[in-house]
Amino acid sequence: MSERLLVEGMVLSAMPIGEYDKRIMILTRERGLISAFIRGARRPNSPNLAAANPFAYGTFEIYEGRSSYTVSKTDIKEYFRELTQDLEMVYYGFYFLEIAEYYAQENMDERQRLKLLYLTLKVMEKKVLSLSLIKFIYEFKTLVINGEYPNVYTCQVCGKKEDLHAFSMKHRGLVCDSCREKEGGEVLQSSSIYTMQYIVSTPVEKLYTFKLSEGVQSELIELMRIYRKRYFTHVFKSEEFLEKSMW
Ligand SMILES: [Zn+2]
Repeated sequence: MSERLLVEGMVLSAMPIGEYDKRIMILTRERGLISAFIRGARRPNSPNLAAANPFAYGTFEIYEGRSSYTVSKTDIKEYFRELTQDLEMVYYGFYFLEIAEYYAQENMDERQRLKLLYLTLKVMEKKVLSLSLIKFIYEFKTLVINGEYPNVYTCQVCGKKEDLHAFSMKHRGLVCDSCREKEGGEVLQSSSIYTMQYIVSTPVEKLYTFKLSEGVQSELIELMRIYRKRYFTHVFKSEEFLEKSMW
């Protein structure tokens, strides 16, 4: 018998296996992204019936098999029930889960990603920030956690720290006024620049603590849309769905 382990994390996706079982992807604090088998999870009387679904957050007792983990017991603390009962929120939620699953890796420290995901779903349920702003913040912070994000502190051409008023798609970050004249770049509102700096430097716990004017918000959302289109070729299925639905 292999040793049993306790991991804390969130179910990102679930796939039916055979008649009664499921395979789930769990983003864990201890082991990064893992794939685990839950025997009998689709039987109506299974104690793991609800735990084997996306958004379930809690503790999972697992043991390691030859090629995969098997879940033996679950203790779910949070199902995000309010979120899963709202169609618009649930689509956004699935998109956030899909992003986390795409970038997370097994046996890597994914604690920041897990925390970001958890707090993002929590803030959605509070309904104080618009879903499109939450989406922008989540996408940007995901790039920061991945370690591949636009430079928003220095000019990408000359390295200067002053006179930064424009963003260059070509140079993947801010450019100063004189470099913009030569290299091009789109002038942004100063709040847009400050917001990006805030997202880069602020811990996940304090991320969702600001609101933006409509103008700044749409400027940032558009910038992120173009940036992702240019530098990230992966298409997220749930995002395509989100865009087709006319919210
Ligand atoms: Zn410059």
